[in-house]
Amino acid sequence: MENCLFCKIAEKKIPSSIVYEDEDLLAFKDINPAAPVHLLVIPKKHFATLSDCSANEAPLLGKMLALAPRLAEEAGCGVGYDADGSPTGGYKTLINSGPNGGQEVYHLHLHVIGGPHPWRGQR
Ligand code: 5GP
Ligand code: ZN
Repeated sequence: MENCLFCKIAEKKIPSSIVYEDEDLLAFKDINPAAPVHLLVIPKKHFATLSDCSANEAPLLGKMLALAPRLAEEAGCGVGYDADGSPTGGYKTLINSGPNGGQEVYHLHLHVIGGPHPWRGQR
């Protein structure tokens, strides 16, 4: 897709801080992080929004979502459990869709936002 920022990032025509890559997906650091950990997971194939995906994309969407806990763990904000079994750590996963959904870049992306910081309530 011409003139798509995240297609250009996926094609390495624009540099980014890549944290994960496979044949379908790329994950990189958000340029304007809302928290100590702020990653974006994108499909290499262009979909403008989540609403441009069909049921055919369920495996790809599932792969994106399943990657989030792995990346969070590697970034130090995974969910853990303390001695009494209470959950610790954690992160937020978010897909903004369309103008009313707050989407700014029209290439589907999943935000992974977390870290030891009082970021709750933001975004
Ligand atoms: P949206 O509001 O569309 O869900 O989120 C777009 C995100 O992309 C924002 O958090 C913004 O900081 C990030 N972003 C915009 N341009 C760039 C860029 O050139 N590089 C990177 N790494 N992130 C970007
Ligand atoms: Zn694109």
